[in-house]
Amino acid sequence: MTDELELVNFCCEELEEAVSSDPDASLIEHDSGLILLNLGQREEDGETGVVLATIRFCPFCGTEIQTDEDIEAALGAVEIVE
Ligand SMILES: [Zn+2]
Repeated sequence: MTDELELVNFCCEELEEAVSSDPDASLIEHDSGLILLNLGQREEDGETGVVLATIRFCPFCGTEIQTDEDIEAALGAVEIVE
């Protein structure tokens, strides 16, 4: 059986191993299918939030893993703190 839900095509093993659905990981696979870079926690107005950034290129091998269009399309589901 093939899995129809194709979230992320990993370009290399390094990325596959680094990406986790664990919110404490430095590279997070979001529910939307985007890979997000976790920049750590930041406190603002007494509230602590996790700062996430979108990445376009694999940090290990430089392959484009998600385009601007991918990011924009999925971004509605992601809360990004700039
Ligand atoms: Zn890669």
